[in-house]
Amino acid sequence: MISYWEQKNFLSYDIILIGSGFTGLSAAIHYKKKHPKAKVLILEKEIFPTGASTKNAGFACFGSLTEILDDLWTMTQDEVLQLVKKRHKGLTDIRKQFGEKALGYVPSHGFELLDEDNLPALDQMDYLNKILKKTFKADVFSKVKKHEKMGFSSAVKAVVENRFEGELDPAKYLNCLWEMASSLGVKILTGVSVVEIQRDSGLIIAENLGKSRIYEFKAGKIGICTNAFTKKLWPESEIKPGRGLILLSKPLEDKIPWKGSFHMDKGYVYFRQIDGRLLIGGARNKDMEKENTTDFEVNPKIKAHLVELAKEVILPGKNLDWEMEWTGIMAFGNKKIPLIQSIGERTAAAVRLGGMGVAIGWQVGKDLSKLLGGGN
Ligand SMILES: Cc1cc2nc3c(=O)[nH]c(=O)nc-3n(C[C@H](O)[C@H](O)[C@H](O)COP(=O)(O)OP(=O)(O)OC[C@H]3O[C@@H](n4cnc5c(N)ncnc54)[C@H](O)[C@@H]3O)c2cc1C
Repeated sequence: MISYWEQKNFLSYDIILIGSGFTGLSAAIHYKKKHPKAKVLILEKEIFPTGASTKNAGFACFGSLTEILDDLWTMTQDEVLQLVKKRHKGLTDIRKQFGEKALGYVPSHGFELLDEDNLPALDQMDYLNKILKKTFKADVFSKVKKHEKMGFSSAVKAVVENRFEGELDPAKYLNCLWEMASSLGVKILTGVSVVEIQRDSGLIIAENLGKSRIYEFKAGKIGICTNAFTKKLWPESEIKPGRGLILLSKPLEDKIPWKGSFHMDKGYVYFRQIDGRLLIGGARNKDMEKENTTDFEVNPKIKAHLVELAKEVILPGKNLDWEMEWTGIMAFGNKKIPLIQSIGERTAAAVRLGGMGVAIGWQVGKDLSKLLGGGN
């Protein structure tokens, strides 16, 4: 039962965003900045955001050599360049907006390990540097001299450096967004799962965590920011979930002989060091069908592959004990660009951020805010 006071004060808003990851929070902030008097609410089904935004690896990246070359097979050169530019701009904007310290940002550069099979990518490096020059005004990729000093196994034939990438702490970034949203007067309710929306009328039906109560919210505009979990609210969307696994070691006794954010296997595997520990994740491509899920479980086949890579290739000869593992769920689809679209008179969605949300979430939120009437 709802009281008259609750009905009058808690249930009607100018705009309601569903999902409080990078996208939902960014959209709310951009909208509220344009319309300071608007009543803006975010509904989040968990106690804190639980999709990908605080489960990821924290790579502030815009594409490794082989990832970009791979993209050029499925996208036009112009599309690829636009995406790289958007990712780079997104990273520059959040650093400017929140400050590197608050984000835990370190400009430690990106790197990619090339094995024998991927070595031919080096022949394309000059070409990529040339087409990226307009955006970066300098060469992005270079071959690391004497990479053997980094201590990888002999299976690693070359290492390519990207001097414009870095790494951050994704939960610190989320905290920045959360605090800014709160300071602007955005209301955030957690533990509220939206079960149904009426896209043209703006009605939102939600339930509490224990599923013991149903609430009816009324929104002037609805923004769907549920990324991998979008099918529930927009069943005809073509969003496919993709699970990502991360393993974190205990602190190593020896100093790790490299730093930065590292990719291998066309970006499917990634690793970095954090607080003297190895963080390694990815390898979805080793069991793609099974990873097409929203279940937060660990796939033993993928875990075994990552453990082996860590032991045999990344830190050969080092003692590695594992302390934590977790999964997060990303959203993919038929294109490697975010899907930002109106889907009803009062509703729009901003989803399908793939493995790029750290870089593009802020801008995707801005684009959604504009679509919902938030101005430029
Ligand atoms: C393991 C892993 C590693 C990654 N590494 C990187 C990386 O290094 N760099 C990078 O740029 N990107 C990376 N990503 C991708 C990045 O994390 C995502 O692109 C980004 O977080 C997407 O943000 P989002 O806000 O759109 O979605 P999410 O963060 O998934 O937020 C969606 C929110 O909606 C909520 N929700 C869902 N359904 C409902 C409902 N019915 N009612 C209410 N709330 C609901 C969820 O609880 C969730 O909090 C990685 C992802 C994973 C999983």
